[in-house]
Amino acid sequence: MAGVAERYVIGVDIGGTKLLAGAVDTQGTVSHRTNRPVLGLDQPELLDMIVDAVEHIRTGVGEVAAVGFGIPCTFDRRTGVAVQAVHLPLRDLAFAAVMQERLGVPVAADNDGNCSALCEARAGVARGCSDVVMLTLGTGIGAGLVLGGKLYRGWMGAGAELGHMVIDADGPPCHGNCPNHGCLEVMASGSALVREVSLAVSRRPDTPIGAALEEGRELTGPLIDELARAGDPVAIAALEKIGRALGVGIANVVNIFNPQMVVIGGGMIGAGELLLAPAREVMRERALSPQRDEVRVEAASFGPEAGMVGAAILAAEETGLATRDLSEAA
Ligand SMILES: [Zn+2]
Repeated sequence: MAGVAERYVIGVDIGGTKLLAGAVDTQGTVSHRTNRPVLGLDQPELLDMIVDAVEHIRTGVGEVAAVGFGIPCTFDRRTGVAVQAVHLPLRDLAFAAVMQERLGVPVAADNDGNCSALCEARAGVARGCSDVVMLTLGTGIGAGLVLGGKLYRGWMGAGAELGHMVIDADGPPCHGNCPNHGCLEVMASGSALVREVSLAVSRRPDTPIGAALEEGRELTGPLIDELARAGDPVAIAALEKIGRALGVGIANVVNIFNPQMVVIGGGMIGAGELLLAPAREVMRERALSPQRDEVRVEAASFGPEAGMVGAAILAAEETGLATRDLSEAA
């Protein structure tokens, strides 16, 4: 293993609109970041773009031990095939094998929710916890489970899609390829928050958020957070409603997995306690004892880089390189 400690691992997080990549050293420090738009690319263009981004970083850092990818899609880990992505042109592709061939270094690939969970469990707020549930609240809801210190992915490796647990069987239809109704994703994601606020504003236009929309500002999560902090009653009520729906989902995962910590990340966690306080309250009302009594529900410590850093940690762990150094850093 001599010399390995000086090598970098590259983490790549591929989202629906952009790719974020960086080199992670054994201290967990990220450098040589690159950020590329991926919207509108077809599959060959996307693969070329990924290779180009990785090569660009490799030129900057020199020797690279492995490359890890976090991708918002379901995997069949028996075959290594990326089966289905809602927002990317990836379908039935042996992603890791293709990338390994093109890059000439060991490659690991996993669902982006799993990568974020690994990041928080190894280097983030849940560091030192053996059993962690992570929910990433953005436009949709990503998720990952670290159980007994390891990522848990289920039989085929397609888990853990906790965003698609049902919290209202008669709720609205879910997004994209999901045939279900009332999934956590459709009840507690950023899209749900925007939907909730736009309904409420149509009933109560005489509020700061109504005035902001009147001025032509776009209704987004950050605007809702900003106005909630300034005391807007509509924004506060919507965040509380979404937080309570989130709490129902958290009660389910607390009952089922008995985690030490539930980590909430993604863009929506910018709302902080406005979202987490009602979520904790509902979890404690609904979950069973003793699971509910000592579980902690916390905001993630990594922001938008959790998927990228987690992908690098995954690659380091799967290739047996620098794992301890990477995990004990940051
Ligand atoms: Zn669903």
